[in-house]
Amino acid sequence: MIERNSFFSNLTSGYLFPEINKRRRAFASENPDAGLISLGIGNTTEPLTPHIVDALAAQVARLGTKDGYSGYGDEAGLSTLRDKIAEVLYENRISPDEVFVSDGAKCDIGRIQYLFGSRVSVAVQDPAYPVYVDGSVMIGAASAMISGTTNYAGITYMPCTRENSFFPDTALIPENSLVYFCSPNNPTGAVATREQLTVLVKTAREKGSIIIFDSAYAAFIRDPSLPRSIFEIDGARECAIEVGSFSKPVGFTGVRLGWTIVPKELAFADGTPVIQDWNRLFSTIFNGASNIAQAGGLASLEPAGLVETRETIDYYLENARIIRDALQGPNFGRMGVEVYGGDNAPYVWVRFPGKKSWDIFDAILEKCHVVCTPGAGFGPAGESYIRFSSFGHRDDILEAAQRLSRLEL
Ligand SMILES: *Cc1c(COP(=O)(O)O)cnc(C)c1O
Repeated sequence: MIERNSFFSNLTSGYLFPEINKRRRAFASENPDAGLISLGIGNTTEPLTPHIVDALAAQVARLGTKDGYSGYGDEAGLSTLRDKIAEVLYENRISPDEVFVSDGAKCDIGRIQYLFGSRVSVAVQDPAYPVYVDGSVMIGAASAMISGTTNYAGITYMPCTRENSFFPDTALIPENSLVYFCSPNNPTGAVATREQLTVLVKTAREKGSIIIFDSAYAAFIRDPSLPRSIFEIDGARECAIEVGSFSKPVGFTGVRLGWTIVPKELAFADGTPVIQDWNRLFSTIFNGASNIAQAGGLASLEPAGLVETRETIDYYLENARIIRDALQGPNFGRMGVEVYGGDNAPYVWVRFPGKKSWDIFDAILEKCHVVCTPGAGFGPAGESYIRFSSFGHRDDILEAAQRLSRLEL
């Protein structure tokens, strides 16, 4: 028999969502009339908007005609879409040939790890989106895991807590490492300021490290002083790759479309431009994003699409406000509950001092019939926190907020 890839046996953190579902199902089977509401998922709920739907449908129709049919396209994406991303989302700070259109940010995060191999050291924010750690473990970057703990020898966890305003101590960044950084952050909802990102870029350059900047939630930023891209920071072109997504802003979680920016200045120790290897990798193990999805993405960046997208995001941000308000009532004050995020991000991050994440999760499930996400599932520094997602229909959010506002622990 063929042997299992031993790196896969090092994976531990894939338990979070299965464990949530297990507890949820157990509760629902004993309480079938509870009317459970989920504020636990990072999945969009609102329908695609008309301008984008029209563009998707028109592209499907074109594919059914002799003149409009197209097969494989350029692996890096339609040139019109690459131009539009550079212009609309990056104000031409990056050039269209540095934009690589893909089937999603998560997929690119997984592929990026191939570029650096199994010996690279990795640093992540703690708590973090699970793919950074698990993707690193899969390629062996953390092969010397200390069994049974979340401390991997090859992965440095940089705590992001209320004490440091959810921005890590950059002194923890190892030399010559890959640094995963997500802003607006999933799960904390924190958005790094220009000053903070300036420190991050400066440190990465001093340490010869590369930042993988996940900007999947950039479109949720409403405060104009907050940077939407790492490339707004001087020096980032020499030390950063940015991964973006159409999933959350336009509801393409199922349609699938994202992009990665690799600046031409970014180089490996031997001087090889990273973009050269990324190009090679992209055309070898990826065959281009769906041309239907790309037509939709292009429409979302046209003026009518931008207006619609803003409305969709406003809807989710209003949901976040409703959740925040519910958690700032008098009984929460008595419990010392602290509420973060949800203003420039779709996630509300809530601290219950002295309590364990999973205990709060169980209490909210049993008393409010609401499903949330235990912060400890995103990393050790998430202990005592709970994440609420603002992706949901307004009726459900209002009902969940009502129930939450009566919570007593
Ligand atoms: C949802 C999400 C993504 C999006 O991934 P896609 O593959 O583009 O759907 C990326 N990063 C973070 C942190 C996310 O929460």
